[in-house]
Amino acid sequence: MNPACPACATATTLTRLQDVSCFECGHCKSHFIRGDSLDGFLNGRGLPNGQRRLIERALQAPTSTRDLTCPDCRARSFRVVRSGLVSIDVCDRCAGLHLDRGEANAYLLQTRATTNVAENTMNALDTILTFIR
Ligand SMILES: [Zn+2]
Ligand SMILES: [Zn+2]
Repeated sequence: MNPACPACATATTLTRLQDVSCFECGHCKSHFIRGDSLDGFLNGRGLPNGQRRLIERALQAPTSTRDLTCPDCRARSFRVVRSGLVSIDVCDRCAGLHLDRGEANAYLLQTRATTNVAENTMNALDTILTFIR
């Protein structure tokens, strides 16, 4: 079953972003990526234990001010991880990743900006790589 949106609990649809399974909310159009999917994504890019390392990174980051519930582990402990103009909400239990449409589109203000939300989420994943290197 697809995870519900962490922000508004609406059903999501699966969107493949290269080799990552991403779930798009039918209401607020945010994107959620499961921690284990992220682990595979990072592992494929030469970063083993990516899920664990992202959790470690998240635990050092400030608590998210938004009311988000992780659809995988039910925790309400998202942290805001920032890099430049991009901020991403990360579950500090499972490394589930939530990007609202604005966060995905933060790349509009950066160099690799496009108007495609999915592509911007993909770019945000590139930022994740820099977080845990
Ligand atoms: Zn939503
Ligand atoms: Zn979680």
